[in-house]
Amino acid sequence: MTAPARIRGWCPSLFRPMESGDGWLARIRPERGRLPSALLRKVADAALRHGNGILEITNRGNLQVRGLRPESIAPFTTTMEEAGAAVGEGSRILISPLLGADPSLAPDLLALADEIDRALPESLSAKFGVLLDGGGALPLSGIVLDLVIRWTGADWAVNGKAVARDAIATHIRERATGLARVSERAGHPPKLGRHAGFLLLAPAFGQMRAEALLTLADLAETHGDGALRPTPWKSIALAGVAWDQAPTVLQAAEKRGFITDRNDGRLSLITCAGAPACARGEIATHDAASALAASRRAGDGLLHLSGCVKGCAHPGAAPVTLVGRAGQIDLVRHGKAADTPAFRGLSLAEIPATMQSLPA
Ligand code: SF4
Repeated sequence: MTAPARIRGWCPSLFRPMESGDGWLARIRPERGRLPSALLRKVADAALRHGNGILEITNRGNLQVRGLRPESIAPFTTTMEEAGAAVGEGSRILISPLLGADPSLAPDLLALADEIDRALPESLSAKFGVLLDGGGALPLSGIVLDLVIRWTGADWAVNGKAVARDAIATHIRERATGLARVSERAGHPPKLGRHAGFLLLAPAFGQMRAEALLTLADLAETHGDGALRPTPWKSIALAGVAWDQAPTVLQAAEKRGFITDRNDGRLSLITCAGAPACARGEIATHDAASALAASRRAGDGLLHLSGCVKGCAHPGAAPVTLVGRAGQIDLVRHGKAADTPAFRGLSLAEIPATMQSLPA
């Protein structure tokens, strides 16, 4: 196995876990957007055995396993490799999550993905990402990576310029690193709940326990097409669920703590493992997040609740970041968890009123 990366900002993978505040984290890249239930059961088991049992969906549609220990990294990686979790590792492509389940997607998408993978130069940086958006019922609108290949409904565009289907691989082989990155208006995440042909749900506060992932894997097998499909909006699509079965599936997922309602206030909050799951946690983040979510709406600005100044769940700035410190909470305005707080030593009960007093 390759030695774990110790550099912050490294793009972690299955073979190169990255150190974070609550241990090491590894990412499993779905093979062409799909994580089959049989694999998910093995991932959930390994996350409990070798990590802290917490998993996340990343904004590149990968499944992230948290809390690995230095001595558990090697057995985790071996177990995952034997389970077939490394199959998607070689690809840089973020593909339409409903590939294989949505007849309205661009034709020939899978073959095009294979061609693109073969055409990309090996010299590209580990972080270089390719978006392959085949449109359909769950288009990847507003998601931008280094290379953006979109189906326009009639033809293809590469970083905003029309390119004939048969010329895409050559175009990329010759110009992959020289293409100007496109800028697009950020899109709204697709709404959670029942859609024609698929369901969309999200882990509460961006995290799920391995036991909850197992429930979803079972639901995908009994009611869907036997796989989960992570999306770049950190949600999960279940395809192949019959329209009349959808309420049963959504209800079962809800019981396991997943968000299935597009108006759920928890969608405006992100938090880390916190205490007691993380030894560095200075507050119980999930309890605090549940209490705060009751007074929030889905459309409110992002609230980042961090168990300590490391800010593992959201390394960037947020309109409001709450940071645990010795059982109390500091509040950072428009900054990261490690930035200077505007308020210090608040109790959980004081947070709603303090937030209301902030200027818009
Ligand atoms: S408490 Fe949260 S932010 Fe701090 S190290 Fe643990 S997971 Fe990271």
